Amino acid sequence: MMPTETQIVLHKVVSVNPATGQVLREFESATEEDVSTVVARARAAQPAWNEIGVQRRISLLRNFQRLLHARKSDVARVITTEAGKPLVEALLTEVMVVLDAARFCVDNVYAFLREQPVPHGNLAMKAKTGRIERQPYGVVGIISPWNYPFSIPATETLAALAVGNTVVLKPSEFTSLAGLELASLLYAAGVPKDVFQVIVGDGVTGAALIHADIDKLTFTGSVATGKRIAQAAAARLLPVLLELGGKDPMLVLEDADVDIASSGAVWGAFVNAGQACLSIERCYVHRSLYPQFLAACVEKTKKLRIGDGLDPHTDVGPLIHERQLRNVEVHVEDALSHGARALTGGTRLSELGPNFYAPTVLSGVTQDMRVMREETFGPLLPIMSFDSDDEAIRLANDSDYGLGASVWTRDRARGEALARRIQAGTVMVNDAVSCFGISEALHGGVKASGLGRTHGHFGLEEMVRVKYVDSDLLPGVKKSWWYGYGQEFTRQMEGVIDLMFAPRLGQRLRGALRSAGVHARKGRF
Ligand code: NAD
Repeated sequence: MMPTETQIVLHKVVSVNPATGQVLREFESATEEDVSTVVARARAAQPAWNEIGVQRRISLLRNFQRLLHARKSDVARVITTEAGKPLVEALLTEVMVVLDAARFCVDNVYAFLREQPVPHGNLAMKAKTGRIERQPYGVVGIISPWNYPFSIPATETLAALAVGNTVVLKPSEFTSLAGLELASLLYAAGVPKDVFQVIVGDGVTGAALIHADIDKLTFTGSVATGKRIAQAAAARLLPVLLELGGKDPMLVLEDADVDIASSGAVWGAFVNAGQACLSIERCYVHRSLYPQFLAACVEKTKKLRIGDGLDPHTDVGPLIHERQLRNVEVHVEDALSHGARALTGGTRLSELGPNFYAPTVLSGVTQDMRVMREETFGPLLPIMSFDSDDEAIRLANDSDYGLGASVWTRDRARGEALARRIQAGTVMVNDAVSCFGISEALHGGVKASGLGRTHGHFGLEEMVRVKYVDSDLLPGVKKSWWYGYGQEFTRQMEGVIDLMFAPRLGQRLRGALRSAGVHARKGRF
């Protein structure tokens, strides 16, 4: 019998090829005790990792980048075999993204960690000099999903390690091999074993990591799990970064190029079989283009080649497992029962393997259907029409989610103006999904799509504690605001406040006179 995800029992997780159902490897899940041992090792290793300095860490990241480049095809094969996506997507959206994330860290982390002077604007504080220091949290826990099983944990890991944290990663139970691949590359690059560790397991192991002695958690996954994690983290005030689900809208304005926008829609909805957090999950098209746009999407969808991701001709691979497939079916059944039409697709493709679903274009959908409100995370492209920009924005924002969005138009300025009105962490004009590959661009959501940001400068900021250090330039002088309060001091302070903030010049000058002598005031004790 072919094993499936439902065979994950007690303390075992099984890595399965979703295209064939073949078992790739079985693992014992890490227990709570294992997790605390691993975290203790990470904590013990952290001071030395921080002390080797940023230059040394950068050189290890360079090694990692060199090795990943050399092993790019092997790593892509592991990802495709375990997660199902076409090999070329494993190269582009996983390997290349990580190579570039390493480049970003190598180029930026030294300057990022430099102390940053803080000039003072407050006159009363001029005799002080301040700076911001960025210090690693200590031990960062990372819990990641299966849909980008290499690029998500790797980009977060590189940022965490570069600034001096040690990392404990719990990859998805469906993609443990990709997590272990990351470990083997980092070790081969020279990163010490206790500086980066992988704990294999399911949600129980993930929950144990939250309760272990970590200093920060980066979680990527569903909203439901994210809420559970936020509650557990709140109980111990553990800082958490939450990268959660999305329901990204695509707005096609009446001046869009139908050929370009329909190709973008088909790719943005079906890349990784629709299992991307930034997938186009709902499409709104200006009524004047609706018939042509639908026809173009259907024609292009019918041409897609569905199959095993290892076949270089495959455009769309399998879904990850039966539960995901069932979710897609439920959304399609709901839409069809409420009057939508599947213009192409709408069925399983069981003849290809256990987890294949035909890329599906739905027309006649309405905003209240599940397919327009809940994250599908599968190969569906539901398309609706609108009449005005205001209506398009209202529909786009009428969602619990706010991860990404896209606007399609020949007028870039108009697209950017609408982008400002969309409630989302990222908005692309005339493309979708691909901003995940821009290392400098931040990634993250608003509303139920999460808290905090990964990638780029903001991603580095999430991996440090910021500290303000202040030095007094007159250390031999007692400060005028220290104890010894009285009527005269109160009068002088009113004068200082008037001097600094009074709206009229005369009032300021009078304030200066009243404050006279405050600089010479010494605390009584
Ligand atoms: P999931 O929430 O089921 O699992 C994610 C991870 O959390 C897994 O490693 C899992 O083992 C672990 N986990 C489960 N229960 C846990 C618990 N109680 N405590 C701690 N850890 C626990 O999500 P998934 O199915 O793996 O991934 C798909 C979801 O991830 C989608 O909703 C997708 O939109 C989202 N996602 C978001 C982003 C983003 O950047 N915003 C990126 C990729 C995926």
